[in-house]
Amino acid sequence: MAEKNAKIDTADLRQAGRHRIVAILLGPPGSGKGTQARELVETFEVPHISTGDILRSNVAQGSELGEQARSYMESGELVPDGLIVDIIADRIGEPDATAGFLLDGFPRTIAQAVALEEMLHRRELALDAVVLIDVEDDELLRRITGRWLCRECGRDYNAAQSGSVPEQCPACGGEIYQREDDREETVRNRLEVYRAQTAPLVEYYGGKGLLVKIDGHGEPEEVSRRMIAVLEKI
Ligand code: AMP
Repeated sequence: MAEKNAKIDTADLRQAGRHRIVAILLGPPGSGKGTQARELVETFEVPHISTGDILRSNVAQGSELGEQARSYMESGELVPDGLIVDIIADRIGEPDATAGFLLDGFPRTIAQAVALEEMLHRRELALDAVVLIDVEDDELLRRITGRWLCRECGRDYNAAQSGSVPEQCPACGGEIYQREDDREETVRNRLEVYRAQTAPLVEYYGGKGLLVKIDGHGEPEEVSRRMIAVLEKI
């Protein structure tokens, strides 16, 4: 890693207590990518970049990007690659991303993965790891259809697990809501889209020796521990 990151001042980052990493969290909807990314940013102190969060915030603001993305998102289809690649190119160019970042929900197609490689190359960065969070389909459906989110901080809560839905976010007091695309019918389509368009990335990154598979079952803290144990070795 030292050689790969030679162009970035890693000593400064270490001194500042920062652990530089460029990683992708890969996995089907409901596998816990967002939850895990929020845990990991505390350990690695790099930003969590979620294309789903960026798109939802654009839809909520009624921006042009939000208008372009809305219908795809509502039906569980992928937003066109060109739009997504532009979002990521802008986001990873921001100052907080110079020490690395955790990508959640991107790339989702081989074309996006190729575009990411070019972007990283231009910035003299390299991908450290792609973490595949492995969860069985029945569990994914159960998690997603019982999922409620906070509009402010994006944390999610599972009604199926806790038996009730909090009136407001226990972490920040924000409004709690359910995602439009978390309805069972849309979720089934999202899972199919994942299998057809995103799952080929497993082989793609496996072939490059970058893929690490993590068991995504169990309590989020347990999964985080597995993930941190793997990433800290990188
Ligand atoms: P997520 O929150 O990651 O499940 O994303 C929600 C929705 O946003 C997806 O179902 C897609 O419609 C869209 N989306 C998010 N990330 C991407 C991406 N990398 N490529 C295409 N569409 C995306």
